[in-house]
Amino acid sequence: MYLQCCNHTHEPIMLLDGVAVTIGRSAGTKILDKLCSRTQLQIVANHSKKYAMVKQLGANPSQIDGINIGQGKTDKLSVGKILHVVGMKYPHKLSIYLSPKDVDDRKCDKKGTSSLKSRENMHNSQKNKTSENFDNGTAADVGPPRATVSKSSHWSQGLKSSMTDSSLQVYKDDRVIVIKDKYPKAKFHFLVMPVENIVSTVHLNSAHASLLDHMWKVGRDIAKRSCDDDTKTRFRYGYHAVPSMSHLHMHVISQDFDSPSLKTKKHWNSFTTEYFVDAEDIIHEIKTEGKVKNRRHMTELLKNALRCHICHTELKNMPQLKKHIKDCR
Ligand code: AMP
Repeated sequence: MYLQCCNHTHEPIMLLDGVAVTIGRSAGTKILDKLCSRTQLQIVANHSKKYAMVKQLGANPSQIDGINIGQGKTDKLSVGKILHVVGMKYPHKLSIYLSPKDVDDRKCDKKGTSSLKSRENMHNSQKNKTSENFDNGTAADVGPPRATVSKSSHWSQGLKSSMTDSSLQVYKDDRVIVIKDKYPKAKFHFLVMPVENIVSTVHLNSAHASLLDHMWKVGRDIAKRSCDDDTKTRFRYGYHAVPSMSHLHMHVISQDFDSPSLKTKKHWNSFTTEYFVDAEDIIHEIKTEGKVKNRRHMTELLKNALRCHICHTELKNMPQLKKHIKDCR
């Protein structure tokens, strides 16, 4: 689930199921107002019930649909409802998932009131979704534990700081930065990211075609460079259908999948099913359609049975799968 700023002053804040997130005056929310505490609100999402419980920690009043919560009190914020962070200002809307429409958010006007139409749309869209749609399989192990969720910057924004981390950076030019994936799912696993702030594939348009070509070319060069002693190492280049991390990133991943960070069925399926969308397909869509297809329904693939990506044998569990792929050639 996401808390989306109705005034578009900052990027959506991802809310993991049951994980407390504190928001308030910070660089992340761009709220500078001294009336707002640095820890104004604590928010805990309940994905299956499609609401979030919001506790007002700060002294000045916060509102849900115009009604004060009260300091130390907790109130329910349902999907589509508006939360004003302090003093009927800084409206945010709770959404199930991001879409270009949600991000542009024409449904939420500047006063922060959600129109009837938007509520109807939200209701209709919810009918076809399940709580599984929120979990894309890599999210679970990349976020910090509950007690350490940053107050100013959510873990889903982590790639932004990693981009400039010299211990992770392997390449940089005027258009892209390449870093090592912090939780590699294979022997070689890199992320190619544009310098330009693009949230994800759904924010791409035809003007980005040459950037995507460049990202793909740089990715192939990095792959070649990283294992030039072993030309047999096979790589794939692509994007997750529903990325967990903000800031566009193309995975460059060797197909050995030999890594202790590859732990779960969701990790596996996110790199070995159609959930992993080849860079060429994304580039083709941008060049022919001017936009990237909506692939939210693909989260279902993360529940697939475990199958070897080479011989397609079904394996019972991750230890068996990992043992099998060591020898399967
Ligand atoms: P996805 O958003 O699903 O395409 O995948 C995000 C990737 O980012 C995963 O492969 C994570 O292992 C990786 N990752 C998560 N947090 C960080 C971080 N702070 N720095 C670098 N890589 C990260």
